[in-house]
Amino acid sequence: MKIVEPWIEVEKIDGLQIMKKIERACRTCYRSEGNITEDSYKNLLKNCINRGHESVLEHEKVTIRMCCDIGVYKDLTRHRFASFSIESTRYCSYDKDKYGNEIKCINPSYIEDKEVYKEWKTCMEEIEKRYMKMKELGASTDMCRLILPHSTAAEVTMTADIREWKHILSLRTSNKAHPAIRQLLIPLLKYFQKEMPEIFENVEYDKDFDEKKYAEFRISE
Ligand SMILES: Cc1cc2nc3c(=O)[nH]c(=O)nc-3n(C[C@H](O)[C@H](O)[C@H](O)COP(=O)(O)OP(=O)(O)OC[C@H]3O[C@@H](n4cnc5c(N)ncnc54)[C@H](O)[C@@H]3O)c2cc1C
Repeated sequence: MKIVEPWIEVEKIDGLQIMKKIERACRTCYRSEGNITEDSYKNLLKNCINRGHESVLEHEKVTIRMCCDIGVYKDLTRHRFASFSIESTRYCSYDKDKYGNEIKCINPSYIEDKEVYKEWKTCMEEIEKRYMKMKELGASTDMCRLILPHSTAAEVTMTADIREWKHILSLRTSNKAHPAIRQLLIPLLKYFQKEMPEIFENVEYDKDFDEKKYAEFRISE
């Protein structure tokens, strides 16, 4: 059993271009394309968001990849306007060389009590033993996946439009969301706030969340 850290990778985006494209689409409503200037998108977007005219944000989308636990993707896949491709526990057979003949678990860094953490680790090791034993006995991957825990690491590719990202990030970076989601999505929200301030700057997040526990954040070319 290998304990791995979560990570999140976002495709390199040009926030300014995204906002300008949204502005162009939005101006169709008022036939005010002629009013576009270098920074006219700023007021336009702020006004749209303040008035709840948010469907214009659906014209642009962003894709991310991440390594998270099953609990995280279980929660994220509740969001109906996002698209997902997720490592399949039906097809990925963790007894194979390709997977290092082991189950990978996401480190629950938010379990700070040493005794509780030890219990969690012992349980994960036991589950791995049973998974491998079932495989040895000829069980199919479909059968073995029944015993995989929420902590199992999985790679996920997720795409959503800007409106849905704004919604997901506002729900999933608050202190009401599970810490395993917060640690992945707060860094993403901060990146969006830097790239697209007019859209994301008012999204509240849990500022007390320990930055040392943020997942590794990468930008792909
Ligand atoms: C802190 C927290 C705790 C939660 N606890 C639980 C729990 O205990 N059990 C549980 O089952 N779920 C739980 N959820 C999941 C939650 O109920 C939602 O299913 C999930 O957050 C998806 O969000 P959403 O409904 O806003 O949908 P999205 O699919 O992201 O949709 C975006 C928006 O579109 C609109 N929309 C989408 N579909 C419809 C529709 N059919 N009708 C009308 N409007 C629609 C809504 O305005 C919605 O907010 C929890 C979520 C959070 C953040």
